[in-house]
Amino acid sequence: MKTIGLLGGMSWESTQDYYKAINNEVNQALGGLHSAQIAMYSVDFAPIEALQHQGDWQATAKILSQAAKNVEAAGADFLVICTNTMHKVADEVAASVSIPLLHIADATGAEVLKLGVSKVGLLGTAFTMEQDFYKARLKDKFGIDVIVPDEADRLRVHQVIYQELCLGKVQAESKADYLRIISHLSESGAEAVILGCTEIGLLVNQSDIGIPLLNTARIHSQHAVKLALTEE
Ligand code: GLU
Repeated sequence: MKTIGLLGGMSWESTQDYYKAINNEVNQALGGLHSAQIAMYSVDFAPIEALQHQGDWQATAKILSQAAKNVEAAGADFLVICTNTMHKVADEVAASVSIPLLHIADATGAEVLKLGVSKVGLLGTAFTMEQDFYKARLKDKFGIDVIVPDEADRLRVHQVIYQELCLGKVQAESKADYLRIISHLSESGAEAVILGCTEIGLLVNQSDIGIPLLNTARIHSQHAVKLALTEE
């Protein structure tokens, strides 16, 4: 079994979900007392979040590159960055280490194709919904068309992530808003919706709504386990 390298803490609320899901998956595959081999480095999210909102992505790339080196030094065979948003600097982070990166949009794109759909809605931070680093990868590598909510709804989705979910707060009215926004994406032609922020699974579940939901934290975890258990 390979050692999975987790670069976490963005936020730690979703990193604990990765840790649990990865261990569960490995145990299901191998049984008994088996658990995952994990090397994890978890950052302090506050300075990262401040730099994101200042638009200083160069500085975030520097912090995450150092963190990735720590993960590699701890014995990881490959790297998993436990957030969608910070894949904005995935290329810089990947270039700072010699282990491969398991990109969250690649894992998600593969699962979208398995559903047999080609047009999806995307929820995430404003950075993920509005900039190109995530949507363009889905389009260019997988041929997936991505639609996002209107400006007011994007702001609402973004605020709930930073002001509630990253703090572990789950509020009924935020859930109702998310379900309304997901329904609206479905009416606009989305055949499935990507929960493109690793905390959104804390708020909405597949059982809440008829349209297929892609939980990126779970998908990323499952793909990490698959890679860890693949013989080479
Ligand atoms: N975990 C979130 C994501 O998947 C948001 C926090 C962050 O900005 O990294 O995008």
